[in-house]
Amino acid sequence: VELEFLQWLRNRLPLDMRAPLGLSDDAAILQLSGGGRVVATVDMLTEGVDFLLAQDRPQRIGRKALAVNLSDLAAMAARPFAALVALTLPRKGGMELAKQLFEGIIPLAEEFGVALAGGDTNTWDGPLVISVTLLGDVTEHGPLLRSGAKAGDAIVVTGKLGGSRLGHQFDFRPRVREALWLAENSELHAGLDLSDGLALDLWRMCQASNLGAIVEIARVPVSEDAAKWAANVVDGSTPVEHALSDGEDFELLLAMPPRDAERLVNEQPLACGLTIVGEFVSASGAEDGRIWRREADGSRAPLVPRGYEH
Ligand SMILES: [Mg+2]
Repeated sequence: VELEFLQWLRNRLPLDMRAPLGLSDDAAILQLSGGGRVVATVDMLTEGVDFLLAQDRPQRIGRKALAVNLSDLAAMAARPFAALVALTLPRKGGMELAKQLFEGIIPLAEEFGVALAGGDTNTWDGPLVISVTLLGDVTEHGPLLRSGAKAGDAIVVTGKLGGSRLGHQFDFRPRVREALWLAENSELHAGLDLSDGLALDLWRMCQASNLGAIVEIARVPVSEDAAKWAANVVDGSTPVEHALSDGEDFELLLAMPPRDAERLVNEQPLACGLTIVGEFVSASGAEDGRIWRREADGSRAPLVPRGYEH
C-alpha cells in the first residue's frame, strides 16, 4: 500500500515541489537559500501496529520513535541537530503517558546532541500515535545515498542481524557516530539503515543503484537473538534466515570499495563490528536489482527479497 501511494504521490507532485530524494531515500535533502543543506526525515509509530502499550513501556516507545529517525539520518551519514515531536494521545491518562514518552525521548536526544525544537499534542478517543521529525546537517563527506553503489563494491554491514523482536527493535543504538566516522575514514559509495531485513533492503539498494548483488550466506553476521528466536519459533527458519529477513536491525548497510572494506574488517575500529557479506555485481536488462545467495559450497540461487513490510 505504501509503495503504491508513494508512486501516486510522485506522479501527482509538480516537479518544482519535489525535493531531491524526498520520496526515495532514507531522508530528504533540502537546499538552503544561503547555501548548506539540511536532511529531514519523519516517522510515525501507532499503537496496535508498531507497539502495544499493554506490553511495551512508554519510555521505550518514545525512545524508539526518535531512534528510528536517528537511524535514517545515520543511513545518510548526516549529523542530527533538532527534532519535532507530535503526539495524539488517548483521552484517558494522556498527560501521564506523554510525560513517560518524553522520559524515553529526552535521554536519547541528549546523547545525540538533538534539540527538541517543537511539536504538537492532541487528545482523542483513539489509540496513541507518536510522530517524530528529525533534521540533520550534511557533513563535508555526505550525504550518503542509496543509489551510489558500484559493481565490485563490497557489501558491508555493522553489528549482527536478526531476532530483533526479542528486544533489539526497541533498544538498538542508532549508528550515527559509526556512520559519521566511516564517512570520514573510508570511501563510502552508498548507505541505508536495515529496517526491513538485509534481503529486502539490499534489494532496494540494488534497485536504486541499478546493480545486482551476491550475498555469501556463511558470512552473514547472525545475532544470538536470531538463534534464540529460531530455536523457539518452529517455522522451519534457520538463524541465518532470520538474520536475512526479520527486519528492525537498524544496522548500516554500506557499499564501499573492497580495499577499504577489507582494511576496516581487519582493523575493526568500531565496537559494533563490521562484516563484509558479499559484493555488488553489474546487472543487465531483466536482471536489474537481482540479488543472489551463495552457500558455503559455492552453489548459487536467487535471494528472495522477503522481509518486514510496513
Ligand atoms: Mg531507513
